[in-house]
Amino acid sequence: MTDTLDRTAPPAAYRAAVDLAAVREQWGDLLAAIEQAPAAEWPPRDARDFDRPAPIDDEHQADAIGRMPLVLREHPAPLNLDALDAALAVEEALFDVADAIAEVVQRPIRTVPVPTYGNPDATMPDQDDAADPARWHYQAQTSPGSRGYGLHWAAVWLEGRALDEQAGDLFTQVPARTLDDLARVASLARRRVERALGRDGRTIALDRPCPWCGDALTGRTQPGGEPSVSCMRGEACTAPVLLDRGRRIWRGADLVGLWAALDAAKRREQPAA
Ligand SMILES: [Zn+2]
Repeated sequence: MTDTLDRTAPPAAYRAAVDLAAVREQWGDLLAAIEQAPAAEWPPRDARDFDRPAPIDDEHQADAIGRMPLVLREHPAPLNLDALDAALAVEEALFDVADAIAEVVQRPIRTVPVPTYGNPDATMPDQDDAADPARWHYQAQTSPGSRGYGLHWAAVWLEGRALDEQAGDLFTQVPARTLDDLARVASLARRRVERALGRDGRTIALDRPCPWCGDALTGRTQPGGEPSVSCMRGEACTAPVLLDRGRRIWRGADLVGLWAALDAAKRREQPAA
């Protein structure tokens, strides 16, 4: 998606848009994480599911779920409270910053004359202008406004404002200082989501040795990137994976083979009683 970004946009706008896109792209994973017990071990649980074929419309389902605002949804028994807290905080932060930006850049709803006798100055809100789908609607006592469309929509709307996408005369350009605020909120939101998902660029010594050579294994996650594991022995390790900068390294589908081998080693040590 970075290719569609306007590279002439101010750096804060670019940063904000990238971070907002990262938040909404990982939103479905965060919502799914709320319903799962937190994984006590590295790496993130989803990295182990390469061998499980995903249903074809999985992505669309996640999209549909992602559009529903968390605050309006039932969480009868969330299994991962950290993920739920992170999701609620991120949702609130993005909704609030959208309210604040709309205050600054969005043209109020136009009025049109009401054909009445006696009061030639009577006006009413222009219904077409009010219904413009590009408009951000504030929360009201009787309606969640645009918050009702969920985080995904709010993030897309904010990206549009950051990159100054045109929508007739509905919006003016976001002032530099407001853009800095948005970039800061977006960066914090992204970090919060990635931390809750265990994707925040941590490096961890795995508590099990390499099943092939017995040396130490190091797990690594990168923000927005796939997890990897490397063996510390170097070329002498006989693990059936490619060398990368002198070390055996497992990524993507190769991780499945590593989990299977680690699991088998564990079973050998702890035979069923
Ligand atoms: Zn090894």
